[in-house]
Amino acid sequence: MELPEVEVMRRDLEKDVVGKRIKEVDVRPHRNAMRIIRRHARRKEFADRLTGKKITKVDRKGKYILLYLEEGDVVVVHFGMSGQFLRATKRQALAQHTHVLIEFVQGGDLRYVDPRTFGEMFVTKVDELGAIKELEHIAIDPLEDTFTWQEFSYELARRASKLKPLLMDKKFVSGLGNIYSDEVLFAAGLKHDRTSDSLSSQEVRRLYRSMREVLQEAVRFRGTTLDDEAYVDLFGKPGEFQNELKVYGRRGLACRRCRTPIDAVKIGGRNSYFCPQCQS
Ligand SMILES: [Zn+2]
Repeated sequence: MELPEVEVMRRDLEKDVVGKRIKEVDVRPHRNAMRIIRRHARRKEFADRLTGKKITKVDRKGKYILLYLEEGDVVVVHFGMSGQFLRATKRQALAQHTHVLIEFVQGGDLRYVDPRTFGEMFVTKVDELGAIKELEHIAIDPLEDTFTWQEFSYELARRASKLKPLLMDKKFVSGLGNIYSDEVLFAAGLKHDRTSDSLSSQEVRRLYRSMREVLQEAVRFRGTTLDDEAYVDLFGKPGEFQNELKVYGRRGLACRRCRTPIDAVKIGGRNSYFCPQCQS
């Protein structure tokens, strides 16, 4: 999941679980389930802090989801490489790699599924969130209104690094991975190897605008589900932004804007896609 998929998940959770009261929490008996709640010593310690509480608010900080509970606790969730929540009825069979079940008094449950177990969940007090070092370093969030293009421009100039790895640096921008960094650069008409301090102010504005627009569009289309189907929404439905991709995964296909074949280069071991004509 990149940022748009996490935001789709947050919105779904906001609509669907806020106001619901937790009846029971089942951290599954297999050992991998303990990896998901690795900041807790025991299953019961995690479960007890959720049981009986109502979820009051769902927030997002970068790629972290925060589920606020009544009485001052908050569940912090990161999906890692392959984690996600799924809503289900009690009668539905557990998907493979289900690690945590949160059952609601109102019926149904929220399931945390994660094949590769790089994701995690933990409970902390709201007033201790400030002490969590992973949340401290949350960078520019392209889906938040709080970041201005002046701030963005300053950071680009200061960093002086190549655009593709810079956009994927989570200390710089939250939640841009391989897919959206390629799409943003295409939308901005900029090549992956341009250095961030070489941009004209017009190019900076274009990059800023593209970043916001591409990610907002991706949220509107409910995220990108590639052929591996690694991402589906809270209700198990795939996203639709894969049909809107302009360059990612399209090597050899005609550019949607100029008909030139899309090209790709390896950057950090993974393909980076671009149009040789539209991007410079
Ligand atoms: Zn083109």
